[in-house]
Amino acid sequence: MNVTCRSLHDFLCDYFGGELCEESADGVKAHMASCPPCALLVQQYELTILIGKRLPLRPVPDRLLERLKQSLGQEQQ
Ligand SMILES: [Zn+2]
Repeated sequence: MNVTCRSLHDFLCDYFGGELCEESADGVKAHMASCPPCALLVQQYELTILIGKRLPLRPVPDRLLERLKQSLGQEQQ
């Protein structure tokens, strides 16, 4: 599969979620091997996920929760 810089961005989430088919995952790896900027992007993405997993879990502040509910409610209307 021919992965371009643009399609790599679309695949990233599924790639890290392990939801990409083998052919696409191989395409992503092949593209990273030939495109240093994308390899760096993937590295940073991976690091961000790692850091995110290490952060302590805290309850969402009430104010933020209210705002989320409001914006979700507005989307459904
Ligand atoms: Zn690229």
